[in-house]
Amino acid sequence: MRIIVVGTGYVGLVTGACFAESGVTVTCVDNNAEKIQQLKNGNIPIYEPGLESIVKRNVEKKRLRFTTVLTDCLDDSEVIFIAVGTPPGEDGSADLKHVLDVAHEIGRSMTHHMVVVTKSTVPVGTSEKIREAIRGELDRRKARLDFDVASNPEFLKEGAAVDDFLKPERIVIGVDNEKSTEVMRRLYMPFVLNNHPILFMDIASAEITKYAANAMLASRISFMNEIANLCDILGADINHVRKGIGSDSRIGSKFLYAGTGYGGSCFPKDVKALIKTARDNGYELHVVTATEMANEYQKNIIFKKISKHFGNDLKNKIIAVWGLSFKPKTDDIREASSISLISKLLSAGAKVKAYDPAAMEETRKVLGESIEYAVDPYEAARYADALALMTEWSEFHLPDFSVLNSIMNSRVIFDGRNIYDPAELRKHGFTYFGIGRR
Ligand code: NAD
Repeated sequence: MRIIVVGTGYVGLVTGACFAESGVTVTCVDNNAEKIQQLKNGNIPIYEPGLESIVKRNVEKKRLRFTTVLTDCLDDSEVIFIAVGTPPGEDGSADLKHVLDVAHEIGRSMTHHMVVVTKSTVPVGTSEKIREAIRGELDRRKARLDFDVASNPEFLKEGAAVDDFLKPERIVIGVDNEKSTEVMRRLYMPFVLNNHPILFMDIASAEITKYAANAMLASRISFMNEIANLCDILGADINHVRKGIGSDSRIGSKFLYAGTGYGGSCFPKDVKALIKTARDNGYELHVVTATEMANEYQKNIIFKKISKHFGNDLKNKIIAVWGLSFKPKTDDIREASSISLISKLLSAGAKVKAYDPAAMEETRKVLGESIEYAVDPYEAARYADALALMTEWSEFHLPDFSVLNSIMNSRVIFDGRNIYDPAELRKHGFTYFGIGRR
């Protein structure tokens, strides 16, 4: 079987490489020539555990190749996945420009029947827009070709993307006929040998399932953050509360961690887009709107705590920031809380020294030389007036506190992910601030 994946970002590259791993011949297409050249040279443009080896292996076996030219591979492929970005537009809606550009390009160059599958996260009705765009181009060139559209939202998590794709908990596929159902079933069969389900449904339901999943997860985070903030006020500990409620099987223990608010390339934009879709259809999603408001507040929580600690005077204070990516095991800094914190610290006149195991290059693209990039966590902390832990990378879990004690200018830690034991830190002479930790 031959397939095409358009877009070689976090989703497209993982999708292409993992399908190739199952024996399918995959062409990955991207209009970013630099990215494609990097991939052709054997370099992986993103940090994602396990991805490099799987890409290399499948390139060597000639099951995976890269191009900037869609027409190079259209001839003999049965399925084409659209996995390009859907960034937020100014009004919060998903910007479908890239998705529809690809649809037009497919319509302009298609030579035979194909199933056109949307993997990008898109609002209800997008598959119909894709169908119209392709049909319009086919009509323009008087081509009498048949094609199908399908929706296959992606649920992988950055940092565990390869594993999530190879061993998914479920696969959601929106289809409107038997033919595309069968093609998609065949393609995904190797990934459900663990008996996890492929859930076939209508296209609109598949499109909304992705947004509903992200909004539900985001709301759990915002809920816990609000309870943590209340714990701060009332002198309770959110970690006890988390265990207390998480052991109720109706609630479950996952995704109950308080922190500095959700970030990344998905939750913030998908929550906004879902609110906008509802409003466009005359409906107000109150819970989802509150989730977003709570998150906006939470993204400033560490700045507020730092500012308060220093009596609202951060001029020339040196703040060390550990962790820049929006979560561990990725170099993705889109909507990361660390970036909001750093921007606020700089505006308040503070100096920032940062360290992240993978995301320094990406951060430099956004913040340039406005901050200092340290070679390791201790260098970041040297002479600092406070340390803010923003991403819970494993290497930050057990630092040598006696070394930190000796190199920091003043011993204050703001633990944005609640990974440290306040009592232990106090023993080492630190003033500790967590999120909802008394
Ligand atoms: P990304 O920004 O990392 O990658 C998108 C890629 O598409 C880029 O390489 C870009 O050059 C390419 N592209 C844009 N327009 C193109 C065109 N016309 N032709 C060819 N290539 C084009 O994005 P991503 O994080 O991989 O996300 C892609 C989609 O998947 C989004 O809709 C996102 O919401 C969704 N999604 C992302 C994740 C995630 O964790 N990143 C998880 C699930 C779903």
